[in-house]
Amino acid sequence: MEKRLERIKKHLHSQSYKLTPQREATVRVLLEHEEDHLSAEDVYLLVKDKAPEIGLATVYRTLELLAELKIVDKINFGDGVSRFDLRQEGAAHFHHHLVCIECGAVDEIQEDLLGDVEEIVERDWNFKIKDHRLTFHGICYRCNDKDETSENETSNEPSNEESNNE
Ligand SMILES: [Zn+2]
Ligand SMILES: [Zn+2]
Ligand SMILES: [Zn+2]
Repeated sequence: MEKRLERIKKHLHSQSYKLTPQREATVRVLLEHEEDHLSAEDVYLLVKDKAPEIGLATVYRTLELLAELKIVDKINFGDGVSRFDLRQEGAAHFHHHLVCIECGAVDEIQEDLLGDVEEIVERDWNFKIKDHRLTFHGICYRCNDKDETSENETSNEPSNEESNNE
């Protein structure tokens, strides 16, 4: 984590920004909650635990700056809330998301997987792809496992009753 913080610091310096203590506190929260897809308010509440003097506006400006510098990506899963997601270092394109419509869990696919699709789009639409957002909506493996267990339970019930009646 310290190494990544150091690289983010260098990135900011290269664009003539400083990693002020407030910015550092914000970046640390993002690194600690890398898979959580936090909203600006979520980040603010976590930063405030460590640095009570920090204001929401400061956190908000820091997040906007990090987004501008492509250190984080802003993403919206259709609930109208902007969430901030650290970009994978060295990844050319943004990772994909699996959003569960039952439990709300968000899983990530770091592998791009879109090589063929990108080739078609670039060729047939003469479009140079710089990035993409891909969100799958469906039922996650946790909920799938749960459904299977409850299905088995219900299918067992009628046979039990029958044996009781006999
Ligand atoms: Zn993500
Ligand atoms: Zn891609
Ligand atoms: Zn789920």
